[in-house]
Amino acid sequence: MDVLVLEGRDRVGGRVNTTFWDGCPVDLGASWLHDHEEEHPLSIMAETLNLRLKNTLFEDGTGIDLKGNFIERKKVDKGANFLTKLIVKAIKRRRNGKWNGEDLESLLKAETDAAGWARPTVQSWCADFDFEFGVSLSKLSPAAINKDWVDSAQEEGEDYNMVFLDTGYKGIIDGIISGQATENKFMRTRIPASLAGAGVERTKRPLHIELSHKVLEIIDHSRLGEASRRCTIRVEVGNESSSEEKRIIEIEADAVIVSVPLGVLKSRLMKFNPPLSAPKLAAIDAAGMGNAVKVVMEFDKVFWPTSSEFLIIADESLCSPYVPSSEPQNRGLLTIFWNLTHVWGKKILVGYGLGDAAETIDQMSDSELETLIHSRLQSISAAASKINPANREYNLLRWHRTKWSSDPFSMGAYSYVPKGVNSTGMFCYYQTFYSNSFTLVTLQSSQLSFSLFLFFIL
Ligand SMILES: Cc1cc2nc3c(=O)[nH]c(=O)nc-3n(C[C@H](O)[C@H](O)[C@H](O)COP(=O)(O)OP(=O)(O)OC[C@H]3O[C@@H](n4cnc5c(N)ncnc54)[C@H](O)[C@@H]3O)c2cc1C
Repeated sequence: MDVLVLEGRDRVGGRVNTTFWDGCPVDLGASWLHDHEEEHPLSIMAETLNLRLKNTLFEDGTGIDLKGNFIERKKVDKGANFLTKLIVKAIKRRRNGKWNGEDLESLLKAETDAAGWARPTVQSWCADFDFEFGVSLSKLSPAAINKDWVDSAQEEGEDYNMVFLDTGYKGIIDGIISGQATENKFMRTRIPASLAGAGVERTKRPLHIELSHKVLEIIDHSRLGEASRRCTIRVEVGNESSSEEKRIIEIEADAVIVSVPLGVLKSRLMKFNPPLSAPKLAAIDAAGMGNAVKVVMEFDKVFWPTSSEFLIIADESLCSPYVPSSEPQNRGLLTIFWNLTHVWGKKILVGYGLGDAAETIDQMSDSELETLIHSRLQSISAAASKINPANREYNLLRWHRTKWSSDPFSMGAYSYVPKGVNSTGMFCYYQTFYSNSFTLVTLQSSQLSFSLFLFFIL
């Protein structure tokens, strides 16, 4: 069987995009393998490729307030524990049939007094959860929290088995493209030997990928009653960022697998002929596509505390425009920083714009964002200067922000279960995709779906 991958961008990887800063891998999209364990397909791939994994201690954070004071470690921990306990409690109540279909944030607020809820460290951790789900908790269905999450949250000392790769996620992508990653025990058990010779192959074979091939339309002739041909794909060929004129070509295929992000399907920019069925469109519209922004910053020196993997900004005053307030659009405005000195020994921080705050950052001009960056850095340097006065001064050499939401090939960061949808509803949506014979496969945020756009060609 011949397989051709049509990729709209001029690079592979999709929402996996490893860049290099001072020689160290910095992922602008996915960074972590979640729920890393022996049987996880990505962990198996990493093992097959001999990639080295590093653990992340997500709860290893140094708290700093906006005035440049360290927040006591126990207060930071208390904020995290308070929120985790609330979630577990709220979800358990939901399991007992007391959930009325509200959003997760209302459910949590209902479990606490206003003072506890408004606590800055709690709001900082809310921002962290906004990041995990790509959306403010106020838009998220409690159905997004599954049993595994609750179970692992209750295990003392468990840090959700989050690991990252010493090559960045690129290591996995390179392995998939070369065919090396998929020759492994997972694939062997998933593709039975009886299918060998029936066109199903799991041999090490490099993928045939055409870059800058943006799919505009997929015509399924068999469903249009034209028996002579199967599928035609109309493709725009040409680099998105180049001013060169693009050309339209048509490719014939036996079958098509579509794995574009949910955001692209929501935009309806890609046409299907015949159109997608009403249940599929309803499923596409109902699932939510969230947002997340990463801001990578490189400095002339390390001026921040390096003992923890994360720096967490919270403030007791709740009166500055940039505090992690209880308003979702403000509480995650660069309030968590991944400390790459701790990880790679480099002078690099990665700040996050989380949930609704990611939208706020998307709306900012470069100079507005730079002002925000410096206001955060000044809090950090003021705290750090109490350890060493030289930490007062720093130079930001360069910075870069991601724009996943406006990128026409992603139109968002990752999907979420919106409020009003329960787990049964979500299951029905997935069923809608799986059960239909038109080979549309759209698994947003699935750790099994790779950045491939596959066409099986005659
Ligand atoms: C900021 C950020 C952080 C993340 N962090 C993590 C993390 O730590 N861990 C984790 O597990 N996940 C994380 N994710 C989610 C993860 O990146 C995605 O779930 C995963 O990459 C989805 O893979 P996919 O192949 O389904 O989609 P994508 O990776 O988006 O691939 C879809 C492909 O389709 C192509 N395409 C789109 N439209 C067209 C078209 N018209 N024609 C041709 N090609 C087209 C795209 O260019 C892309 O290559 C993160 C995502 C973001 C944005």
